[in-house]
Amino acid sequence: MNCNDFNADLIPVGEAIAEDLIEQIKEMSKCGHCASCLYTYITLAPQFSSEELIQLFGTDMLENTELIPEFNELAGLVSNPYPNRPRIARVNKALRVISLQKDKEHKALIKHYINECIKQYEGDMIEEYFNMSP
Ligand SMILES: [Zn+2]
Repeated sequence: MNCNDFNADLIPVGEAIAEDLIEQIKEMSKCGHCASCLYTYITLAPQFSSEELIQLFGTDMLENTELIPEFNELAGLVSNPYPNRPRIARVNKALRVISLQKDKEHKALIKHYINECIKQYEGDMIEEYFNMSP
């Protein structure tokens, strides 16, 4: 099996991951630079240290800024006429945990995520302000 055939929807976010599922992920070939690998990487990240993840994928995917378009898609940061809402919710749940982990909070994609969340929050505040004005 390779990364494109693997469905990370099966990985529980922030909960213990079954041994056989971990074995499956270890054994499959992972390119380390596609959307599928990134999704798997992010859903595993709350439960694994940075070193373990880098060892597993052969690269630090959270430092790969070339993956920002794929990242934005997974996190629901870009408008999409057919959003995969359950997946977006899972990715955001994982990212909220990762953003607070000392070994991951300074990674390029996590900093990007936090900045995007702040921008979105500020946008909502401004919108609310205008909605309130008479
Ligand atoms: Zn891949």
